[in-house]
Amino acid sequence: LTDLAGKTAIVTGGARGQGAVEVELLATAGASVLICDVLEDEGKALAERLQSDGKSVQFFKLDVTSEDEWVAALATVRAWTGRLDVLVNNAGIINRKIIRDMTVAEWRMVMDVNATGTFIGTKLSAPLMAETGGGSIVNISSNSAFSGHYDPAYTSSKWAIRGLTRTAAMEFADDGIRVNAICPGLIVTDLNRASPHLGPMISMTPAQRAGEADEVAQLVLFLAADGSKFITGEDFVIDGGFTA
Ligand code: NAD
Repeated sequence: LTDLAGKTAIVTGGARGQGAVEVELLATAGASVLICDVLEDEGKALAERLQSDGKSVQFFKLDVTSEDEWVAALATVRAWTGRLDVLVNNAGIINRKIIRDMTVAEWRMVMDVNATGTFIGTKLSAPLMAETGGGSIVNISSNSAFSGHYDPAYTSSKWAIRGLTRTAAMEFADDGIRVNAICPGLIVTDLNRASPHLGPMISMTPAQRAGEADEVAQLVLFLAADGSKFITGEDFVIDGGFTA
């Protein structure tokens, strides 16, 4: 059984969607989890629900693009448990405009949240992880990062996360920090459950269904825990065979 008792985790974008499921699974495995998200109401409500269930969970309002807010979030972790073992860089946004229609500002916003947010979180969290012998960073990319798609900023940002994952794994191995990426395909969340895009995507998926957030969270848990301690710099596609 995966046991994260005594460990501390940060999940960005943890207030809803896949991040919220990851928060709950890590907390159920015994970790103290700091939910970091721009969505204050949802994040606080999730923290309260899990606390009332006996879990060690707090919310911190963080915009992943803000270096200052990352510094404050990590100070909160230090004051709370004094250690950081797991960072899940899950926060992400999408803009489906093609290059012709996309403004430079729109491109920058997607790259800023998805790629630069992951960079800042990695850069600032690594020293705290290293203080207690290391940890595990799990970056949420996408199976979009294996080919081209008609959402250039999103696809490029998710390729960037794969590149950052490999380089960070090399740089931080000495500190005992592992860095891996998860590349999900279509995952059903409350936001897209009713989307008309689901049907065509599912018909192109060998498994003939969309994935569930819990299936991604189970992989996050595996990569967060010691059972995967020789795995670093790797990316894991979880898409029912779509990319195969
Ligand atoms: P979601 O929109 O439900 O969740 C994203 C979360 O990130 C939200 O809580 C949002 O508030 C938060 N967020 C957005 N900008 C932020 C910022 N600047 N700072 C902090 N938090 C911010 O989406 P989801 O489907 O749960 O996606 C989670 C991750 O999985 C994303 O990185 C997404 O790109 C990736 N992904 C999703 C799918 C899918 O099919 N749902 C597939 C592949 C990859």
